[in-house]
Amino acid sequence: MSNLFFTSALLPDGWAENVLVETDGRGRIVSAMPDAACPADAERFAGAAVAGIANLHSHAHQRAIAGMGESSGEGSDSFWSWREVMYRALDRMAPEDFEAVAAQLYVETLKAGFTAIAEFHYLHHDRDGGAYADPAEMSHRAIAAARTAGLPITLLPVLYNASGFGGTPPTAGQRRFIHDGAGFDRLTTALRHSYGEADDVQLGIAPHSLRAVPDGLLTEIVAAHPQGPIHIHIAEQRREVEDCVAYRSRRPVEHLLDTQPVDGRWCLIHATHMTEAEVAGVAASGAIAGLCLTTEANLGDGFFAADSYMAQGGRWGIGSDSHISVSPVEELRWLEYGARLTSERRTVLAGGPRRSTARRLVEDAQAGGAQATGFESGRIAAGLRADIVVLDTDHPLLAAREGDALLDGWIFAGNTPLVRDVVIAGRAVVRDRRHPREDEIADRFKKTLGRLLG
Ligand SMILES: [Zn+2]
Repeated sequence: MSNLFFTSALLPDGWAENVLVETDGRGRIVSAMPDAACPADAERFAGAAVAGIANLHSHAHQRAIAGMGESSGEGSDSFWSWREVMYRALDRMAPEDFEAVAAQLYVETLKAGFTAIAEFHYLHHDRDGGAYADPAEMSHRAIAAARTAGLPITLLPVLYNASGFGGTPPTAGQRRFIHDGAGFDRLTTALRHSYGEADDVQLGIAPHSLRAVPDGLLTEIVAAHPQGPIHIHIAEQRREVEDCVAYRSRRPVEHLLDTQPVDGRWCLIHATHMTEAEVAGVAASGAIAGLCLTTEANLGDGFFAADSYMAQGGRWGIGSDSHISVSPVEELRWLEYGARLTSERRTVLAGGPRRSTARRLVEDAQAGGAQATGFESGRIAAGLRADIVVLDTDHPLLAAREGDALLDGWIFAGNTPLVRDVVIAGRAVVRDRRHPREDEIADRFKKTLGRLLG
């Protein structure tokens, strides 16, 4: 048992003061009591505590090229030209390089206020495309990096089988990603064997996209993995929608909903280009829409139908995807600002009159992130993981605010990170904005980048 004491905290039924949270040996919350005295043995946090948000979509290796590919090229730049830059950087990344990059990313993830990450992991094979002696080599590296940082991880090994609709053969740039059904099964079996019982690891699967996984194979792997989250990229780009329509005479989300048992286990990453019928279908399915606003903006993807989807009770969460930015603040702010810019209204996603926009965004993202990662978290409540962030209420940006106004200040005011402490499974892993291993991890990251990009 350990005791955590917070000056204020957002509990399931609202804000409370002087909150004592008792946790058990596994880092689960036993009780959360408002108006409590602070026991002598409690760890005290002066600030406003809220449950952490999971970062539900990450490609850790892409952290190495964040901010690259921003000079204009020949003709029109798009997602597809950025992807060529990314593939070239991957050509040199060895397992230890990947681990160094991922560890840096995961420390940044924690310090930003995310308390879990779903790694949509597709860098499986050696640089020449050959298998490593251990087919799970790169997956082990992702989990090792998460454990170095102290960040709970949902590992989603990616099945990438083709480069386009109709089973088009993979390109040379995709040689490190490719599996057939049997190879993918060996990988997921090995991972279950190694991490099936771990408290800090959840396992799921990630069929990469409808263009990279033929229908029959998708049905097979969904049937072969009856438990854990299923994440898939879908309808991110108009070209992908057009290719899907040309091949199947159906749009991607429409096709997925018609052919797969899409439910609460599923997370549809991006889902940017949907008709109103598709928006209604996903909202009714109970699946999570995995929104990655800064990446979608950076790649010129388009804007998700947030207003309509949320009005229909659609569930959603946020991810930092390519890691052009690693911040729940930016993801949530851009979601609301995108909705404002396209509707020419304010407080679009607040969900009704006289409600805090940030409260709605944060609570939806907490719930959606927990569902998409499979971690029992997302609220400060008995039985759930004690994964909690503490906002710095002493900061001038939060001066003279309390309750929901603190959340509105966190999400909408300024650009100073306002997360001061981060608690994972009842233990502080970030204190006063510092992670105890951040210098060592950053040094290794910088040396690795010098080698990879130099
Ligand atoms: Zn992605």
